[in-house]
Order: sequence, then C-alpha cells, then structure tokens
Amino acid sequence: MANREIRLRGHHLLCLLGFRGMGYSAAFSANMREVYNELRDEPQTLVSIIGGPDDLCACFPKDAEQHCENRSVYEHDKRILEKLGFAAGMTLPWADVTLRVRDRMQPEDINTLCYTCEWRSYGVCEAGVRTIKKGSPLPPLPPLSHL
Ligand code: SF4
Repeated sequence: MANREIRLRGHHLLCLLGFRGMGYSAAFSANMREVYNELRDEPQTLVSIIGGPDDLCACFPKDAEQHCENRSVYEHDKRILEKLGFAAGMTLPWADVTLRVRDRMQPEDINTLCYTCEWRSYGVCEAGVRTIKKGSPLPPLPPLSHL
C-alpha cells in the first residue's frame, strides 16, 4: 500500500508497540494489524497526532461500551504525549516516534502511564518498549491462526 498519513491519538502510539494481534473485535484487530504492518514495513510513514478518536478508534465495535471520548482516555493521551514531549497537531515520521520512546521511556513506565488499561497486565506493551529501547524494529505479528 502506498504511504498514507496515519492519525493516532497519544496512547495509541504506545499500544502499537505492544500489539500482538489482540483487540476488541476481529475488525478492530484487523485494522490495527494493517496500521502496525504499514508502520513496520515503512517506518518513515507520517503519523499525525490528534487529540481524540483516531484511525484505530474508527474500528472500535459499535456494540461495545464506548470509551473513546471518555475523559479518562483523553487524560491517558495527555500523560503519554507529555512523557514523549509531543502534542496534538504534530505530524512526524513513525521512526521519530520510536526514537522518542527509546530516549524518554523505560519499559516500567507503562505501569504508571497506562494504569487504567485492561490490557496492561499482559505485559506486551512493556515488552514492546523494551524492544524499541534495544534499537530493534517492530517484530512481525503472530499469524492469525495462532491467536
Ligand atoms: S497498557 Fe493499554 S493503553 Fe498502554 S500501551 Fe498497552 S494497550 Fe495501550
């Protein structure tokens, strides 16, 4: 796929690092998989940081309890953008996002930045930050049949 600009809110910058194929629904995971693979295959893809529901939220299941506009989620975005020194309205290559994670975060920071998140206990996001800090690229995703 030709490069497109991907719209991401603050906390999703980190969710992508820990993404291993899980998600709120098959459609949500498939969309996230597509974004993940675009960023993995082409780290110069431009990411536009936005202050609200983004290209991942777009596939949040309509029949699940909605949370994308909750105040706690906006606060979660804010904590992460402050940690990384980013702000909504910025556009930058995905590679610069990972460089900033490498320079400013420790894997354990996930525990405080993301204390509200139900996925945190899986440990995949902490592992994702650890991978980036080693200077490694995003790893390939497990095949769908393994999920
Ligand atoms: S703990 Fe939750 S919010 Fe934080 S990076 Fe992981 S999935 Fe995203």
